[in-house]
Parts: sequence; structure tokens; C-alpha cells
Amino acid sequence: MHRFHRAAAQTRQFKELGLLVPMRRIFGVRWVVAPKVAAALPPVSLRSADTAFPGGGAASPTRQLIPAPRRKENSGCRPVPPAGKNGVKPPALQSGADAAVKAENPFKRIRKLTRMRATVAAALGLLLTLGLSCIRAAEPAAPLFSFGAVADVQYADKDPSGPRQYRAAKEKLAAAVAELNRHDLRFVVQLGDLADGQVKNAGATKAEREVMLAVLKELRAPLRNVVGNHDLTAGPDQLKIAIGLDRFYYDFTLPGARGWRFVVLDGNDGDYGAMGDAQLAWFRGVLAQAKAAGEKVVCFCHFALAKEAAPKHRFARPEPVLQAMDEAGNVVAWFSGHDHAGGYGTRNGVHHLTLQGMIEAPKDQNAFAIVAVYPDKLAVTGFGTVPSRELPLPVPPRVEPPL
Ligand SMILES: [Zn+2]
Repeated sequence: MHRFHRAAAQTRQFKELGLLVPMRRIFGVRWVVAPKVAAALPPVSLRSADTAFPGGGAASPTRQLIPAPRRKENSGCRPVPPAGKNGVKPPALQSGADAAVKAENPFKRIRKLTRMRATVAAALGLLLTLGLSCIRAAEPAAPLFSFGAVADVQYADKDPSGPRQYRAAKEKLAAAVAELNRHDLRFVVQLGDLADGQVKNAGATKAEREVMLAVLKELRAPLRNVVGNHDLTAGPDQLKIAIGLDRFYYDFTLPGARGWRFVVLDGNDGDYGAMGDAQLAWFRGVLAQAKAAGEKVVCFCHFALAKEAAPKHRFARPEPVLQAMDEAGNVVAWFSGHDHAGGYGTRNGVHHLTLQGMIEAPKDQNAFAIVAVYPDKLAVTGFGTVPSRELPLPVPPRVEPPL
């Protein structure tokens, strides 16, 4: 390609990059280097401009297109700094003649500026990305999943007794269901004693349970039932049919919640507040399988195990259950009801939480909870008389209270 055409092509390229701007029109457009670019360029002689082209010679027409820009230092507006104390003179300002010899090729400078522009853009992009990452890191992390919990609704069609508002329990449960339905829950666990039961009236007991199950049918999330002592007032067979279980202990996992297993236990099958041998053997087996699979286990039982979590009413024989948990070492929490006052404690790496009973919540209050599960904690959001609390995982070490 002829040098002239090469120069024209190069000029077009600079125009496209915004490095050249039109100056005035006489016999066609003349172009000068954009002021910002010009400020960064050294004084350039015609000779140096020529060398921008491989094999370029003194006759290159680009010398008309690329005038030597003026540098501010040459304008005389800025004072020249005095010589230093050691007598060393400050660098002399370049004269046009010096620049002609020493100045860097202007096209190289332009290419360098273009590269610098790309580098600065990349750096800004990186900073923007890092900034967005920091903003995202500051946002509260979403839980792995959440579930609802309610204990001791203990509805009955009978007059209040002390703090127990039997008939009001129906409205309280309905209000709890409405609130729980506003949240994204994988299941809701009912921790037992759904109806109070009437010892000498199996029909009334069944009817009261049906009223409560009808309220719970409004739950959007699946219902997981735990059997309490009051639920057995009319016998286990009727209850099994009512809640669709062939036995009152079982375990389950959640799709998409790998690493977590939930175990529902029956605290009545060995006696009141005791686990029978068959269930205990089954429990040990489930814990062993969960341990082999690297799963954390959350237990639900109507009865609490630890005294601190339920000072008044809890398991009559907790020792074999606690021993099984100690041996496995993968149970992280034991949720219970039965002791209506509620409570909390830890023992050997396990959170023991007893939910306050809905039946004894004051008239204008309720009692239920949502548990958000994170990799490093269970965050309990309490409603009504249930306090909110965070249960860190693993459980921080502490001095264990006596059972
Ligand atoms: Zn109970």
C-alpha cells in the first residue's frame, strides 16, 4: 500500500477512536490531535512523525496532519523551578529541536494511550465487580430452608381452667396457620397435645381432634405430627387413623436439603415419658445411618430430655435416649413441648428447646415459631410468648447442667 493511503487509513482509525478532532475546513477537513491526547504528547518534529510508519520517509503527508502539539511547559506560564541546594539543575524544558531527537514516536504514544485506556477500563470493571461482591456479601444470607413449629394447642370444647383458654385455642391455631402460610416453609411440625381430650368421652375427644385437624388442613406446608400424651386419651388406634400414621415414630428428609435428617419420636410407647426398646433400637439405627451419610439430625418429641429445657415436665427416663445421642454425636437439636412454660438449654453439643404451649398463651397473644436453618445456626423466630433466639452450630462448649 502506498504510504499516503496507509497514512489516510491510520488517520481514519484515529478518527474512529476519537483521538482526532476536526479543526477547520478549507480544502477538505484538516485534523488535529484531540486536546487530551495532545497534552500527553511530546513536541514532535516532522521527522519523528514520519517514523510512525514502517519504512516511512521524510515525504510522508502525515506531517501535515500531525502538528507538533504545544506542551504547557513550553508556554512559559509556569515558573521554572530553581536549582536545588546541591547545585543540580532541574531538568531543562525541552526545546523543539531537542524533542525532535528525543521525543518518543507519537503514534507509539497514541497506541500506548489506547492501551492505557483499555487497562483503566478493565481496572474500573474489576473494582465495580469487587464492589458488587462486597454489597452482596453484606446482604443477610438466605437460610437453607425453614419450618414452622407449634406445641400444645390442647383445644377442647370446655370452659377455661386457670391460664388454659380451651375454646380460644381454635382461633389461636387458625391465626398461627394464617401467619405460617405467609412464609416459605418446607413443613410445619405439630409437637403434640393437639386436643386436650376427655377421658370418659371418646366421641368428644375425636370431635375436638377433628376440629383441630381441619384448621391445620389450611396449612400450605406439609404437616408433621408428633403425638403427645393428651392425644392418646381416646386410644392410639383411632389417632393413627386420624393422622394417617401406622406408628408414632418416623424420620424424613427434604428434597434439596441434603445433609439434614428429621426424626419424630414417640415419648409414650415405653410408658409416660419413656421410649420403648424397639423404638430405641430404631432410633440408634437411624442415627448411625445419618452419621454414615454425614447428616445433621433434628429431633422432634413431645417430651423434653434436659431439665434446663423443661424444669417441670419432661421425659421420665431420658438416660437411654441421651446415651444414644451422645454415642452418635450428630443430633444438633431436640425440639419439644409438653412443659407449657417452655425453656432452653444445651447438653453435649445438642440444643434442647421446649416451645411455649399455645393453650397457655395470654388471651391477646399466641405461641408458635419459625425455625430458619443455616449451615452454621438455627434461627428461631418466636411469635407471641415464644422468644426468638439463635442456636449456633456447632453448639459452643459449656459446663453441662445435671439432668
Ligand atoms: Zn403433654
